[in-house]
Amino acid sequence: MLITDHSTTIDACRFCFMCRHVCTAGIISGKESDTPRGKGLILFKISKGHTDYGPELVDTLYRCCQCGLCETWCKADCHPPAAVLAARADVVAQGKEPAAVRQIKDHLLQTGNPFGLPPERRFQEMDTSNLFRPQAEIVYYVGCDTAYQQPQIARAFLKILNAAQADFTLLSGEHSTGKPLSLLGYHDEARAMAERLVAEVRKAKPRLLVTTCPSAFDAFKTDYPAWGLDFSGIEVLHATQYLDRLIEQEVVVPRRQSAAIATFLDGTYLGRTHGIYDEPRRILGRIANLAVREMVWSRELAYSCGEPGGVLPLLHPELSRGMAERVLDEASKTGADTLVTSCPATMTALQGVKRPGLAVRDLVEVVADAL
Ligand code: SF4
Ligand code: SF4
Repeated sequence: MLITDHSTTIDACRFCFMCRHVCTAGIISGKESDTPRGKGLILFKISKGHTDYGPELVDTLYRCCQCGLCETWCKADCHPPAAVLAARADVVAQGKEPAAVRQIKDHLLQTGNPFGLPPERRFQEMDTSNLFRPQAEIVYYVGCDTAYQQPQIARAFLKILNAAQADFTLLSGEHSTGKPLSLLGYHDEARAMAERLVAEVRKAKPRLLVTTCPSAFDAFKTDYPAWGLDFSGIEVLHATQYLDRLIEQEVVVPRRQSAAIATFLDGTYLGRTHGIYDEPRRILGRIANLAVREMVWSRELAYSCGEPGGVLPLLHPELSRGMAERVLDEASKTGADTLVTSCPATMTALQGVKRPGLAVRDLVEVVADAL
């Protein structure tokens, strides 16, 4: 069992209440079993053979949104999200994953996206003339959430790439990074999908791989190296880092004034995992007349919409909706009229819950508007 590799976390968490008040899933559901302590107790009993992966316990494991707030808060260097992922892999190895999880896996394997939508519809919301070239300096990896659910983010980023006169291409055979598969516990399938994507990217011989999707960014920066997949010689950036560089070098200049009051939502992968906090704030600070206000819970303690891998809304829409409500409540307290994110899955979650007077925009849309 893979959870035995996480016995330090499991042993500590089952006795500890110290992060239960920051656990995103536990706060929304009010269930003790959703907190890190609850999961510690469950996994301890399973690791000792006192119980097994029954349907209710398995369901609890898939309710963790992998936001990482618990481990950020922890003073004992424990890692509940990693223990949960190990448990999901054990569940999959025993063939006990829920039907909804298996369906997402089947969609990914059959169509290359978690929604089961036809691959030929991936770029249909974009003007694809001149977007696909055999080789280019930059590969823009769009990602499933952006392509199928938030294509306006891709259109905005393409506008910026064109304004920068960048030598770029999209991948005509683009498919998921495999991140959702690994989050659901399908490690072999995830790695096989990742290998295919690395080969697609390498064919274009780029010096830079850039994406508007934080989950894809984390797959490229964390998962692929851990799996021994070779991106050497190719720099990997999230769009936020790339934009920060373009604006710093005055390759693109956001000249148009904005009348908005914005607040920025840090995310799990860009923020807590990779520490990209200053770049989005520098970018917003360069847009004339745009006032920026901070939420009380921001940077490493920012609230989560349950965005990692984009799978929570497909498995537990009620939890996802509760998380989005909480983020919008927090953003509203700043008096901002625009909540800025840098994640397509977050955008989808937030769009499911409206707040009058509070628009939600991706950072690349805000910059594209200002060009
Ligand atoms: S992650 Fe740390 S703070 Fe949270 S329950 Fe475990 S030991 Fe306690
Ligand atoms: S990763 Fe988030 S949802 Fe999962 S146990 Fe930690 S705080 Fe709770």
